[in-house]
Amino acid sequence: MAKLTVSDLDVKGKKVLMRVDFNVPIKDGVIGNDNRIVAALPTIKYVIENGGKAILLSHLGRVKKEEDKPGLSMRPVAERLSNLLNKPVTFVPTTEGKQLEDAIDGLNDGDVLVMENTRYEDVKDGEYVKRESGNDPELGKYWASLGDVFVNDAFGTAHRSHASNVGIASNMAQTAAGFLMEKEITFIGGAVDNPEHPFVAILGGAKVSDKIGVIDNLLAKADKILIGGGMTYTFYAAKGMKIGNSLVEKDKIDLAKEILDKAGDKLVLPSDSVVAEKFDNDAAHKTVEGDIPDGYMALDIGPKSVAEFEDVLKDAKTVVWNGPMGVFEMSNYAEGTLEIGKFLGTLKDAKTIVGGGDSTAAVQQLGVADQFSHISTGGGASLEYLEGKTLPGIAAISDK
Ligand code: AMP
Repeated sequence: MAKLTVSDLDVKGKKVLMRVDFNVPIKDGVIGNDNRIVAALPTIKYVIENGGKAILLSHLGRVKKEEDKPGLSMRPVAERLSNLLNKPVTFVPTTEGKQLEDAIDGLNDGDVLVMENTRYEDVKDGEYVKRESGNDPELGKYWASLGDVFVNDAFGTAHRSHASNVGIASNMAQTAAGFLMEKEITFIGGAVDNPEHPFVAILGGAKVSDKIGVIDNLLAKADKILIGGGMTYTFYAAKGMKIGNSLVEKDKIDLAKEILDKAGDKLVLPSDSVVAEKFDNDAAHKTVEGDIPDGYMALDIGPKSVAEFEDVLKDAKTVVWNGPMGVFEMSNYAEGTLEIGKFLGTLKDAKTIVGGGDSTAAVQQLGVADQFSHISTGGGASLEYLEGKTLPGIAAISDK
């Protein structure tokens, strides 16, 4: 069933609690990259332009001891948000109590308040009590009491049951998705539940073990699964091919065999690889077909594989991509990932979805991010979504 979204709510005059993802990189109080704050603006603006009082909660980093707190304050985030919105934002340096409650009572329609890092609640009097991360029922109930409605726009934490997402939602009459969350549900949820065919998944990255759940789930739904990256060579080993010094998960070879048997020709492995003598951008390297020669490790898919993958992708109507095709951090082994990224950007009739993590970095590096239908904001959350798991943060959003 479709989920309630913020545009279904009448927010006028309401205290709108909003779980946003303001988990930005921050060092010595300086924000490294404000993408996540920028990404949250549409939902925040919608609420305040429609006369709601926006009360924003987010976690920032991991708080495990008292000393972690000062460096992980939300204050600089509130300041940046104020600059981006071009209006004052009230920052409250606490997560509960009278100061917070009074500040909320003093809000006018259209005002914005940011409370302190929700994970400050994980440490009380020096003890690591995990009230936020452990979804302490009293904490979720308390936060819920501060607002009239709840909007969850933090997809990146949707795979976790925390007090600030699931805890609040379970104490609220109505929880709606924000626009970012809505887009994740539409695209990733849509691909998993109801894809337009042909549906092609491209899975790369280092390890089979990280992607096993995704492969399993998508084998039942996709028309083809293209495999690249380091996990290729565990599959090569399972087929009895030579892998030289390539990355391999020996304890996953049997599992890889089972997957190959089950998948038949649905699963496509690269036919050629760029191999190097060392894990080093400057090492001697060459392209080989099939077996990886002794003394070499495979660090990228080769040009023939790229062409074969593109041939499968060109007719796709839905594409999900998760994980690089090679060690794209090194320029000599980045070609496979970059070529696939570029090609996906040219597919105009397909829904193209990048499932977070390193493939997102590759797409951004290429400057083609705006040519994709959807680039997920959550690494772990998008993987679990692709595995077909129910994400507690999404399950807790009200149905329409
Ligand atoms: P993941 O986080 O599982 O998506 O894996 C991403 C990492 O896999 C990147 O840091 C890549 O450098 C690495 N990777 C991709 N292909 C290979 C390969 N053939 N050998 C070793 N590492 C690889």
